[in-house]
Amino acid sequence: MRYIFLIGSLLAIVVPSLASAHSLPAARTGGAIQATPSTSTFVEETAHIKPSDSPFTFVPLSDFKNFGVSTSYRVEGVFPSDSVMYQLKYCESRIYDAYRVFPAAHRSELKRLMFLWTANTQRGLGGDGAIHLKCNDISDEELTSVFVHEMGHIVDTGVLGGHSAAGMSAYVDPRSSVFKDDPSIDFYSVSWRSAKAVHKGSTANDFVTIYGMSNPFEDFAETYNFYLLHGSQFKFMASSNKRLGAKYDYMKRRIFDGKEFANNDFKLNSKRRNYDSTLLPFSLANFVKSV
Ligand SMILES: [Zn+2]
Repeated sequence: MRYIFLIGSLLAIVVPSLASAHSLPAARTGGAIQATPSTSTFVEETAHIKPSDSPFTFVPLSDFKNFGVSTSYRVEGVFPSDSVMYQLKYCESRIYDAYRVFPAAHRSELKRLMFLWTANTQRGLGGDGAIHLKCNDISDEELTSVFVHEMGHIVDTGVLGGHSAAGMSAYVDPRSSVFKDDPSIDFYSVSWRSAKAVHKGSTANDFVTIYGMSNPFEDFAETYNFYLLHGSQFKFMASSNKRLGAKYDYMKRRIFDGKEFANNDFKLNSKRRNYDSTLLPFSLANFVKSV
């Protein structure tokens, strides 16, 4: 069983207090676990999410349960007013729109979804079949992109798995086991010798983002995000970099069964690497239509 994973802001140092039945351990890049949520710095904000801001219809009850995904809401630090609950449901509806785009094999690994209203800066957690998403103070595009990144971890840890009989690999996670026959290793090994060391001669251009350089697991999730949300750009970047080419090819052949996603309207500077995929512009309307 493999756990982990946050996609936090640069300042994220705590992990939200999560319901015990669904709790995930702190991510390796995080600091101390905060046992109880802080309420002192949180100011309720209700104005930034309105149905009229979105091209989508508000759907109060999603069909997640029809796909075997259990959902829950968690409100930290504020009274769960009608407005707060409405926005959590709105958040769920946006994620449902995105969820339908993923291949069935990826969707089936997701078992639990929690939608949070929290003062915590951490925007998402994913692993072991569960994803937690922060729903307040976030645009529809960023929320969707965080979800895509976390789905990358779900696929990495759930769809792809090895067997203990093969023995431990060099890609060691302190909380889990990556066995030598784990198909993810064909991806990890493009840039990484181990969980901590890249190959000699590696450069930032071998990665889709700076955050992807954190470790092989973030590399996987960031690359997965780029493949789905910035497909055209990724393909272009991959055409002039051997390691990126191998990563694109891995996603195409091994993860998406040959399907490509050329749905990005926005040109990124391909010579520069952004810190984090989830803050980059993409067309949400095109993405949710790419089913
Ligand atoms: Zn991550």
